[in-house]
Order: sequence, then structure tokens, then C-alpha cells
Amino acid sequence: MKCALVTGGSRGIGKSICIKMAAMGYYVLVNYKGNEEAAKQTLAQIKEKGGNGELMRFDVSDREEIKKVLGVWIENNSDNAIEVLVNNAGIKDDGLMIFMKDEQWDSVLKTNLDGFFQVTRLVLHGMLTKKYGRIVNVVSLSGLKGLPGQTNYSAAKAGIIGATKALAQEVARKGITVNAVAPGFIKTDMTEGLNEKELQMLIPAKRFGTADEVAHAVAFLASPESGYITAHVLSINGGLYS
Ligand code: NAP
Repeated sequence: MKCALVTGGSRGIGKSICIKMAAMGYYVLVNYKGNEEAAKQTLAQIKEKGGNGELMRFDVSDREEIKKVLGVWIENNSDNAIEVLVNNAGIKDDGLMIFMKDEQWDSVLKTNLDGFFQVTRLVLHGMLTKKYGRIVNVVSLSGLKGLPGQTNYSAAKAGIIGATKALAQEVARKGITVNAVAPGFIKTDMTEGLNEKELQMLIPAKRFGTADEVAHAVAFLASPESGYITAHVLSINGGLYS
């Protein structure tokens, strides 16, 4: 069984990626933090389309929980390789730096950046043994450009971009690629409070993107044919910034 692990697969971009991975033939490990109902819906949609997978609840900011859940799954499934890892789980908690609380900084860094490290390190062992792997990290325009009000989020996403490029060079000769996708404004729960009418005027494409459009780019980088593309950051932002 060839598996794809998608963190934050219950909603938004992660949900679309799960469905796309299933369409590529992968058994999908649908990770989520707390929204079990949404995660079940993702899995139901995978199965409706003829795919398969399972739910995997753990908090990517909790290293002990990752070891207990993902680590134990890996131990018990030595025949089932995780070929594709999509580090998608993420949160934002915006505010100007001068007013930013320690907790806002810590939670955003822990979930986005530490989560990437803890999950990837665990999954990497199997990929190195099999000499094959596709790692795709969901970063952000904010990590490339820096956005005011998001010093925590921009730092976390920029950190993942640096780690993507470094890890890509560490594992390239082992058949493992490491890339990132950097969405601009995508219609999901995360962007719900934003003034879409006003913001879309700034976007050359004059609209927000969809989760499916991000999933399409992830699928491209996760495909076996993309073996010579690594250490790359692919923007999906309607021309907003690149
Ligand atoms: P979303 O709709 O808010 O969904 C977030 C997903 O991440 C949910 O499945 C959630 O699980 C999961 N999650 C959050 N914290 C987690 C944790 N600690 N452990 C495990 N799972 C966790 O967000 P989205 O817009 O789809 O964003 C997905 C990714 O794209 C994020 O990394 C985000 O930074 C990035 N991004 C989004 C945009 C955008 O415009 N939407 C732009 C650039 C980058 P539960 O359902 O269990 O809460």
C-alpha cells in the first residue's frame, strides 16, 4: 500500500489535497487536530470517488502526540510506505508586533514550523530506506514577501522555505524531492474574515484562488514525473507577487 500523509486534511486546502492524492491512487492518511466531523467528511468524499484512507488525529504542535500516533502507525505499518508527505496544517494569529503576545508568537511558530520539523523527520526514515519520496510544504506569500501584521506567520513560513531548500539538498540523491507551494489569497476558513472585494482589486487575476487550484500544484510536485524538480517554491497567487 502506497500512502500519502496530509496534515490538516480536514478542511480547506488540505481537504482538496487529500482528495487529489486519493485520485492519484494513494491511500490517504487524513490528519486533523480537532474537527473530527470535517475529517470524516473528507474521508467520505475520498471513498465516494473510489479511493481509500483513514483518519489520523494528532496535533502537529505536540511532539509527544506526533510520536505516539504517527510514530506508532509507522512502526505498525512497515509494509505501507508513506511516499508523499504534504505538510499543510497551519494557523495564523495576526497582530502588529508591538502588540503581539508571547502565546501568539509561540503557537504560530509551533504549529507551522515545529510541526513541519517533527512530522517530516519521522516520515523521512521510511523514504530514505525506500529511496523514494515526495515532500510538499504548504507555505505562503507571507513567507516570501513578509506581510505587516504577520511577523509570526511570515517568520514561520519563511523558516519552512529555508528548511525546504536545505532538506532538498540533503536528500536529493536518495530519490526524495522537497518542494513548497506558496498560496496567495485562497478561499477557505482561514481567509473568511477578510474583505475579499477590496483585496481582489490588488490581485492581477482579480479573484481569490480555490483550494483545488492549490491541490493541483501539490499533485504536480508530488507526482513521480516531478523527480527532477526539488528545492523549489511554486507561487499560486493569481500574479500577486512572485
Ligand atoms: P483552514 O481552512 O483554516 O484549515 C486548517 C487545517 O489545518 C484544518 O484541517 C485544521 O484541522 C488543521 N490544523 C490546524 N492546526 C493544526 C494542528 N495543530 N495539528 C493538526 N492539524 C491542524 O486553513 P487553509 O486556508 O486550508 O490553510 C492550509 C494551509 O495553507 C496552511 O498552512 C496555511 O498557512 C496555508 N495558506 C493558506 C492560505 C489561504 O489563503 N487560505 C494562503 C497561504 C497559505 P481541524 O479541522 O481539526 O481544526
